[in-house]
Parts: sequence; C-alpha cells; structure tokens
Amino acid sequence: MQGLMMQQPLLVASLLTHAERHHGEQEIVSRRVEGDIHRYRYRDFAQRARRMANALAGLGIEPGERVGTLAWNGYRHMELYFAVSGSGSVLHTLNPRLHVDQLAYIIEHAEDRVVFFDLTFLPLIESVAPRVRSPKVFVAMTDRAHMPRDHGLSATLLCYEDIVDGHSDAFDWPLLDENSASSLCYTSGTTGNPKGVLYSHRSTLLHTYAAALPDSLNCSARDVILPVVPMFHVNAWGLPYIACMVGAKLVFPGPALDGKSLHELIENEQVTLSAGVPTVWQGLLAHVDAITGSFSSMKRTIIGGAPCPTAMTTAFQARYGIDVVHAWGMTELSPVGTICSFKAHQVSLPVVERYALQAKQGRPVFGMDMKIVDLEGEALPWDGAATGDLLVRGHWVTREYFGSDDAPPLRDGWFPTGDVARIDPDGFMQITDRSKDVIKSGGEWISSTDIENIAYLHPEVTTAVCIAARHPKWDERPLLLIVKKPGSALVPNELLTFFDGRLAKWWKPDAVVFVDSVPLGATGKVLKNRLRDQFGDYYLSA
Ligand code: ADP
Repeated sequence: MQGLMMQQPLLVASLLTHAERHHGEQEIVSRRVEGDIHRYRYRDFAQRARRMANALAGLGIEPGERVGTLAWNGYRHMELYFAVSGSGSVLHTLNPRLHVDQLAYIIEHAEDRVVFFDLTFLPLIESVAPRVRSPKVFVAMTDRAHMPRDHGLSATLLCYEDIVDGHSDAFDWPLLDENSASSLCYTSGTTGNPKGVLYSHRSTLLHTYAAALPDSLNCSARDVILPVVPMFHVNAWGLPYIACMVGAKLVFPGPALDGKSLHELIENEQVTLSAGVPTVWQGLLAHVDAITGSFSSMKRTIIGGAPCPTAMTTAFQARYGIDVVHAWGMTELSPVGTICSFKAHQVSLPVVERYALQAKQGRPVFGMDMKIVDLEGEALPWDGAATGDLLVRGHWVTREYFGSDDAPPLRDGWFPTGDVARIDPDGFMQITDRSKDVIKSGGEWISSTDIENIAYLHPEVTTAVCIAARHPKWDERPLLLIVKKPGSALVPNELLTFFDGRLAKWWKPDAVVFVDSVPLGATGKVLKNRLRDQFGDYYLSA
C-alpha cells in the first residue's frame, strides 16, 4: 500500500551506531580481571567492536554460527556483544558457575565455533576443552603481556588484543533480517539438561525499548548504570543494549562482586542505577552498614531473579534513600516480564501499604501480556487472592527451545512460566512459588514465598528458605530453614511465635531448622530441590 512508513529492520548493530554517533564521548568504565580500572568512550568501543567484527570474519565465522563467551562484565565482553551479533553470528554467553559437565553439554549442543574467555576461567576452559569436539579455537580476553604461558589446551589459543590490533576498524554492519538470531542463553536447569533460548535482533530491540521506559528500568543519558547482574545471565537483563540506546555511562564490576568493591565503584564512578539479584545486595548492604557508610549518587536499584524481601526494600529506601524497583523475569523472556512501578493513585498510600506493594513483582510493560489459570487451564480472577499457573506472551517471549526435540512449550500461544502467582485488581502480579516448590497441605496450596517474606522481617534472620516437607497427615507441611545472623541466640519457638498474627494459622511452618548456609545455583538462587532431598522427610522422622 502506498504512503506507508519505512521498513527499517530492528538490528543490534544500530544501537552501537547510534551510541557512537550521539554519545561518542560517554564513558564505559570496567574493573578488569587484571585488577585495574579501564576507561574509554563509546567512540573507542564502537571502533574496537568493528575491528573484532573483522577478526571474526578472519576466523571464518559464518552468519548464524555461535560464538561463545565465558566472561565477567567488562568492556571486552561488551565489544563481543556487538561485534558478534552485529556481524550476523550468534553471541552465546556461557555461565561459568555451571558444572563442567553442563558447560561441556551446552558448548556441544550450541556447536560453538570459538569461545572467548576471561583469564579467571582458564582452568575451567582446560577442563571443558578435552570433552568437546568443537571449538578448535579459544581466545583469552587479555593482552599479550598477560597471556598464559603454560596451559593445558591442545586447541589454538589466541590473544584478544592481538586480534583486535591486527584488524581494520572499517566494517559495514550487514543489513540483516531482523528475525535472525542475535544471541543465545541457556537456562540453568535445576532439573534436566539446560535449554537454549535464542533471541532475535527484533526481540532484543523491542525488549530494549520496553525495558528502558520510565516505568521499567527508567534509563536515560544522565544515568550511570552498574550492571551487577552478569552479562552471562540473560544479557545482563538487557542493560548493555539499553545503555547504548539511551547513551548512559556504563560501569562494569568485573569479577569483584563483594560489598566493599561494589561500594567503592558506586561511589568513585557516581553510579545512579544498578541491577542484580538479592544475594548480591545483601553483601553490599552488610558492608555499608558495617562501615556506617552511605551512597552519594545512587537513586535506584533494580532487584529481581528471586523475590526481594521487604527487609531489603526497607534497608535501601528508609536507610539510604535509594528506590527499589522489584522486577520479575526469566531467561525465556529476555528477561523482563513485570516491574513493580507505582501507579499514580498508589504514590500517596500509607508507607506500610507501599512496602507491601513493593513485595509484589509488579505489572507488565506494554508488549508483555499475562494471565493466571487453574489446573484445567481456565483463567482465574485478578482479585489478589486466587493463585494459579502464570502464563505470558509477548514480543520477547520464546516460542520454543533452541535445537530441542521436546514438544514446544507453548499452550494455546501462551508460555507457561512454571511460576505460580496471584494478580491484584490493579494488575500487580505476585509470585507465590515456582510450581515445583508449592506446598500442598491437605489439598490446599501454601505459598513458601509469603512465609519467607515474614521470616525476613525478623532482625536476626539472614536467609530464610521454606520448603515442602512430607507429612503423615497433611501430605506436605511447610518447613522453614534459617541462616541466623552471626552471634544470634534465636531459638526455633521464638521465630515460630513471630508468625502469630502475621499469617493464617494453618500456613505457619510446623518447625524451624537452623542451618549454616543454603546451596545456591549458578544464577545465585537457592536450590530448593537439594534442600528437599536433605530435609524432605523431616516430619516423617520427627
Ligand atoms: P534459572 O533460574 O533457570 O537460571 P531464570 O533466571 O530465567 O532461570 O529464572 C527465572 C525464574 O526466577 C522465574 O521463573 C522465577 O521463578 C524466578 N524469579 C525471577 N525474578 C523473580 C522475582 N522478582 N521474584 C520471585 N521469583 C523470581
């Protein structure tokens, strides 16, 4: 039809071109594996990404082929994000916290042609390399001076800086089909083999627009963004792309994710916005509390990947004046699904009600659609009480897994998230459990997340995990596992009494067990299945 708009494909490389042209002076600061701080500008980043694109062509990487990375958050990783996807091949980010068997499985399954790695991960690469048929080439993300002299790799080992230096910065980003693949990330798969989620240029760009909006991650050219969430985990929640789109300064923490290092970086670089999982923020808060420190520039922190306990929201907001933005997402959702941003009428709610609202995972941004359904698949009301399986659909939701022979996951065009949730009349969704973690007591469901949230309100609790333990009368009953604050004299009955009046009586856990630590998975989440293996028979043997 005549008079229509241009058909310009949505491409990852266009983010880089925009950033170079309009924000060329903006900085990218990285703490390097070598220990020092590296800083340069978007202009330099774009130039080096073009050199790398030429280098990839020189290595014979064809469009659509996968290029693996095993790396921390840093500028070289950022260059690969754009060089690989921009030139038409697929950036495959590998999670170094996975078991070596899983890594080998993923590299083989994705048929990675080459793997780039940070020096920290040389021992891991040495263990994985003999177990995989491809790749034959590995690239150490360092300069000549830091190249490992002795290594156990029989494959070719190249030096990142050598190959960047050895190539021209003249490169025309190809005009790709926007529906072609740009990056690949495997879910960590607490059960079964990891599954690959293949993002397209189009889904990535649409996700970038949506995630940058004020009621989403709220990013602008005036922000200094510190992605603590790893670039190997769902593209650092899209922040590398968002930063280019809006022209924000980027600060990368490298391998130093402890509270002290993060606080130093936040203060030195005047970070305004950060993002990560609750476990990381626990470390940061503990450090800043211990030194009675403060934050001079931070305005917001995005917390997701696991429920953000109200105690954490309170600590950030009331103690340090930093707004908490609670978000929910999944690898299959690129990852942003819902964000807890107030609607106009909620801003003036009493503070207690606002905190209660912030414990919810929030509402979808435009482009994401959600519903909850019962066991028969019938839609449930948004009354804040009914809980059911959460389904989503949207521009950046996967429709199937990469190279999988399993039946496609969609149900009537909706993606079943595996989460159980309730939705209130304002459309705010609250995760009550993963479907496999729901506690089924006497035929009724009990939310482990609600129980954990209350436990976190107790001042002597560091970590709270509630699991379903088998029960002779009720099938399952909640069992609460607690890591206490150091030196705490808390006893189980004291904590159980703490629940009185805060929760329906029959939801109250029957017992509390104190543990030294809880097992964490590759993305920093509690491995409840392991705890169930260990404590699942607690009430049978009691
Ligand atoms: P994996 O845990 O397999 O590495 P993801 O990072 O994709 O994969 O995890 C997605 C899951 O994490 C969600 O389905 C949900 O159970 C959980 N999750 C993510 N964000 C939140 C949140 N804010 N609150 C509660 N659960 C969350």
